[in-house]
Amino acid sequence: MAERMLQFTHVPQKTPEKRAIGERQADFDEIYRRFDVQSAKVQSSRCSQCGIPFCSIHCPLSNNIPDWLKLTAEGRLEEAYEVSSATNTFPEICGRICPQDRLCEGNCVIEKGFESVTIGAVEKFITDTAFEQGWVKPITAARELPYSVGIVGAGPAGLAAAEALRRFGYKVTVYDRHDRVGGLLIYGIPGFKLEKDIVLRRTKWLTDGGVEFVLNADIGGATPFADLREKHNAVLIATGVYKARQIAGPGSGLAGIVPALEYLITSNRMGLGDKVPHFDSGLLNAAGKKVVVIGGGDTAMDCVRTAVRQGAKSVTCLYRRDRANMPGSLREVKNAEDEGVVFDWLAAPEAFLGDEKVTGVRAIRMHLGLPDASGRQSVDPIAGSSYTVEADLVIKALGFDPEDMPLAFDEPELMVTRWGTLKTDPKTFMTSLPGVFAAGDIVRGASLVVWAIRDGRDAAAMIDQYIQVSAGMAQAAE
Ligand SMILES: Cc1cc2nc3c(=O)[nH]c(=O)nc-3n(C[C@H](O)[C@H](O)[C@H](O)COP(=O)(O)OP(=O)(O)OC[C@H]3O[C@@H](n4cnc5c(N)ncnc54)[C@H](O)[C@@H]3O)c2cc1C
Ligand code: SF4
Repeated sequence: MAERMLQFTHVPQKTPEKRAIGERQADFDEIYRRFDVQSAKVQSSRCSQCGIPFCSIHCPLSNNIPDWLKLTAEGRLEEAYEVSSATNTFPEICGRICPQDRLCEGNCVIEKGFESVTIGAVEKFITDTAFEQGWVKPITAARELPYSVGIVGAGPAGLAAAEALRRFGYKVTVYDRHDRVGGLLIYGIPGFKLEKDIVLRRTKWLTDGGVEFVLNADIGGATPFADLREKHNAVLIATGVYKARQIAGPGSGLAGIVPALEYLITSNRMGLGDKVPHFDSGLLNAAGKKVVVIGGGDTAMDCVRTAVRQGAKSVTCLYRRDRANMPGSLREVKNAEDEGVVFDWLAAPEAFLGDEKVTGVRAIRMHLGLPDASGRQSVDPIAGSSYTVEADLVIKALGFDPEDMPLAFDEPELMVTRWGTLKTDPKTFMTSLPGVFAAGDIVRGASLVVWAIRDGRDAAAMIDQYIQVSAGMAQAAE
């Protein structure tokens, strides 16, 4: 091993090449090119194969990272794929969009003196290669079982659970109110981070594996939730969080102030070839406009970079804290800056200006105060520091809360936390309703794709246990 691994002392970190700024500003394709085989091998060989792999510990899926890095360094790519896909349902997606700087790579032991191993880029390379080489096998059921599971929500949590349950042998039906599979993978996250073909390829893989999708199905709307409980042996709720946080203040109702997700869904639909009237009318299109995005998370970063690609005249991001305290990935901030976005740190909107349509945002400077009980610094306005930023499109990206689930599903017994997320037993993933489980953002609050996958996989194992125990009890009673 020694001569092939531990190369970090003399091989520098190299991330996959980024496309030229001018080129990437003009389309929605991913900005990173892929490693070639040689680069993937060389970069994997930098792994120190340390005794305690902090990368795995800090990966929500506990991926066996040192093992697949070693196999890649040795050119044993099919085996690397087998190991990597054993713990992750969608490794090529996580390799693209995990905030690795906060997870695996941020905890790589060589990060201290040398830069970390490029774990995400290698993970993406392995699975993309596996698809091209035909190593990704169809999902096969261990045996077909006479039980079915209904899953509400075709996002990563629902899809990861669907795959695992099919492998156990259950009939799986996934319901979604959208017309496409993927949740935020298809309609939230833009193509420059995750090209849509990658999501569509997984949809086909799941469909080929026997997962049934019922799309345009608004559960709790046209289809009562109770029908699903009646029809299936167990139900998983994986509906994500979609209630956008609102901005108050004078002028907040003016035309031209739009919610982030509507803006991103429209842009993604356009990329997928749909016709969207609000894009054609200019309502949800940044072309030629002075755009102000309010917020500092992943959603805000995706909005600013989408606006650049749509041909905005200028794009400014207002965030009330500073760069070091923003929730979004710092890698994406850097990418946005390179693409021409202006970040106005320590700034919050006070009022929106204009008669019928917004023409500007009156902002005020903020300063960071002392940390509160949670350790987060308070933010306070600086008196007399107001100023105006011109805007003819303002995008609100302040985060999301859960919808009122007991009301939406007409299930008053469905218990929620004080944040409105679904209350589940942390060990069994079951909600307060027998046979009804929950996973992903609707339990955690807005989180990450990798956590949704983890929860979906774990919930599937618990659903299997629940159905098997219930079936055993029913048999014993006969
Ligand atoms: C703009 C944006 C960018 C992001 N970028 C990143 C990133 O770069 N990296 C990362 O790790 N995470 C990112 N995230 C977070 C990540 O997308 C989520 O944490 C993840 O998708 C949650 O998965 P989920 O399966 O729980 O829910 P979702 O992906 O939200 O899927 C839920 C699904 O349930 C469906 N649904 C909801 N209610 C109903 C109903 N009543 N009936 C039928 N169907 C219903 C929805 O249509 C949706 O398809 C981002 C989020 C946003 C909004
Ligand atoms: S799943 Fe995410 S955190 Fe885990 S190894 Fe892959 S990129 Fe890193």
